[in-house]
Amino acid sequence: MPRYGISIDVTRCTGCYACFLACKDEFVGNDYLPVAAAQPSEGPAWLRIEELTHGTGTKVKVDYTTVMCQHCQDAPCIKPEFGDAVYRRADGIVIIDPVKAKGNKKIAESCPYGAIQWNETAQLAQKCNMCAQMIDAGERTTRCVETCPTQAMVFGDMDDPKSAVSLAIAEKAGKYESLNPEFGAKPTVQYFGLPRPFIAGEVILADKQGECASGAKVTLNAKAGAKSAVTTTDFLGDFEFKNLAAGAEYTLLAECEGYKAKQIAVRVDASLNVGEIVLDPK
Ligand code: SF4
Ligand code: SF4
Repeated sequence: MPRYGISIDVTRCTGCYACFLACKDEFVGNDYLPVAAAQPSEGPAWLRIEELTHGTGTKVKVDYTTVMCQHCQDAPCIKPEFGDAVYRRADGIVIIDPVKAKGNKKIAESCPYGAIQWNETAQLAQKCNMCAQMIDAGERTTRCVETCPTQAMVFGDMDDPKSAVSLAIAEKAGKYESLNPEFGAKPTVQYFGLPRPFIAGEVILADKQGECASGAKVTLNAKAGAKSAVTTTDFLGDFEFKNLAAGAEYTLLAECEGYKAKQIAVRVDASLNVGEIVLDPK
């Protein structure tokens, strides 16, 4: 029996909303009993795209993270008090039974990912069903995945090493991860490139009318726990350290031959643009 899942490469997502619209197109006005009742045309959707703008000034990034039901292996939405209104199929897909769940608003409040929406008109908790109606009809993808123009999402059998999803995950060599692992839900949806803080800035030479220092060495030394790293500035004198741990403290050391090194202390609570680091000649 396959165990279906989806991989999402956040670095490939352009925030185009094609997946969001595909989900609407599949489910609005369409009942697929017993695996889903129709999605309302207005109100909260079953798939959301979280936009994060981070950094300041000229060092700004925008990341888009697509979030739907994570089809958790230890799903917090499957509780004894809900009976068999919410269940996990043998193929790993978590389903809310549209008949048995009717009227139970507590189901909508049970998901730590905020993936379940309350349909006020239908008095029903609803969510992504990984297009179970398509899978059951013999399709081998979901509407959101087949629609994504950048192939940011891949669907398939997580337990088959030759499936497209397993190959996509293997290609990134252990860098796929779960969203909010602290929930302890063991999601089947896996992410690569989740947004993390960065430090960026530029190195300038004081005696050359503010000319940028191309090829300068910049070292990020972690005070405790976090990883240290080294880079060199590009032709514009810019540098960047990506994927940093939030809350970590560092010293940033800029060095360029013929110039006095400069060190500054930084704390990464969010992405940080340290601006110009001006080096004086020796
Ligand atoms: S993401 Fe939420 S709704 Fe989906 S399986 Fe996990 S707990 Fe249940
Ligand atoms: S369709 Fe693909 S690129 Fe567009 S928002 Fe969805 S995941 Fe991102």
